[in-house]
Amino acid sequence: GDFPIEIDTLVVGAGPGGYVAAIRAAQLGQKVTIVEKGDLGGVCLNVGCIPSKAMIQAGHLTEHAHGNEELGIKTENVSVDFSKVQEWKGKVVNKLTSGVEGLLKGNKVDIVKGEVFFVDQNSVKVMDDKNSQTYTFNNCIIATGSTPIEIPSFKFSDRVLDSTGALNLKEIPKKMVVIGGGYIGTELGSAYANFGTEITVLEGTKDILGGFEKQMTQVVKKRLKKKDVKIITEAMAKGVEESKDGVKVTYESKGKEETIEADYVLVTVGRRPNTDELGLEQVGIDVDDKGLIKIDKQCRTNKENIYAIGDIVAGMPLAHKASYEGKVAAEAISGEKAEIDYLGMPAVVFSDPELATVGYTEKEAKDAGYKAKASKFPFAANGRALSLNDSDGFLKLITREEDGLVIGAQIAGPNASDMIAEIGLAIEAGMTAEDIALTIHAHPSLGEITMEAAEVALGTPIHMM
Ligand code: FAD
Repeated sequence: GDFPIEIDTLVVGAGPGGYVAAIRAAQLGQKVTIVEKGDLGGVCLNVGCIPSKAMIQAGHLTEHAHGNEELGIKTENVSVDFSKVQEWKGKVVNKLTSGVEGLLKGNKVDIVKGEVFFVDQNSVKVMDDKNSQTYTFNNCIIATGSTPIEIPSFKFSDRVLDSTGALNLKEIPKKMVVIGGGYIGTELGSAYANFGTEITVLEGTKDILGGFEKQMTQVVKKRLKKKDVKIITEAMAKGVEESKDGVKVTYESKGKEETIEADYVLVTVGRRPNTDELGLEQVGIDVDDKGLIKIDKQCRTNKENIYAIGDIVAGMPLAHKASYEGKVAAEAISGEKAEIDYLGMPAVVFSDPELATVGYTEKEAKDAGYKAKASKFPFAANGRALSLNDSDGFLKLITREEDGLVIGAQIAGPNASDMIAEIGLAIEAGMTAEDIALTIHAHPSLGEITMEAAEVALGTPIHMM
């Protein structure tokens, strides 16, 4: 037996959930130890949000480099040294992950490398290559994240890729099949399409980007079509045959079996929570049938000193949700009254153009019993969008009819990811459409679209009849 090391607050996993929880707990005076079996920053910084956005940006730059006939911009001999793209992407990731290490150390958080297994409600074993060390703790925040789902007939390999494999390719594929038109498949598919890859998306349901309104996905689909991305809906992927330099993917569509040949197949059909190998049953922590840990409004599990946050609990598996829950859990442990409230939480797809939503959609608001009003303003009526030569899309502001309270918004258009923040703030602060309309927005800017939609809600838009 080893001598147990006594610690105060234990954080398991150093993704955007865990490292943020650790820092906030330390700020509030807790003595924190964070244990990570892989790299600091978790999925998000190493193989998720950040490298995928870097890849998307490199794809955009490549697409733009090909010139623009309408603007008379002609270019020749555009080429991409993909190893340089990968090198740059790696540098972006390293800057951020070493930043996280610096922040943890600066906040006097102890960093331990190893894999955590629960022993009981107050102790864990941490294993590294050689050793096993027991730690006893007072409070614990579990933030172990999620892993790509593998379909049995598509075992991951050099040719059958998960998102990580797709982010780390050494070459630009000539042809790639993407199984699953969720946000990850759509983002990576369009990034590679911009590099020149011929993309076919196989989606099992009736439409890609299932969680978003049709009006919004329509805008993205139009662009994907321009990029020659082929989308086959209601297509069930059946199996894959691998050869040395490619794959043959079989799928069923409208009762017929079809095959496509490609260099690679990317499988993005969802992620599963990393909760099955933690020893949670030793502690008696309640988990639902999807493997998600059950929590209350303070992220507390059924064991009062153990909290869970991020991709391992219900809700949208997004980095900012994990971080938000991390702060709530850290504050709850410190005795603060923090409680989760997801209404102001955005969800974004970094497609081309971007999609973003916050709060209620019109339908959700009505289902929740609101008399809801939807006020729409198109990007095409905004000077900045036109001068960016990027004017597809719209912003839809959702307000409560009786008093104009802002309760949601959906945006399809360039910079939707940044624009959604203003409406998130309005929701969080309990503002009305009038508050947004009274706010002077710089001209010409995309922010004016938000102001105009608020004017539409009031019945007094200037730039729309
Ligand atoms: P993770 O980031 O998964 O971190 C969990 C950490 O716990 C890992 O580092 C893991 O090694 C460690 N761990 C697991 N088990 C143990 C153990 N037993 N002991 C010790 N350590 C352990 N979200 C967005 O909001 N915006 C985006 O643009 C976006 N893009 C994405 C793109 C891709 C390709 C992918 C795959 C995901 C993307 N996401 C995005 C989702 C986002 O990455 C996750 O929601 C987020 O990382 C979840 O954070 P987390 O802290 O819960 O877990």
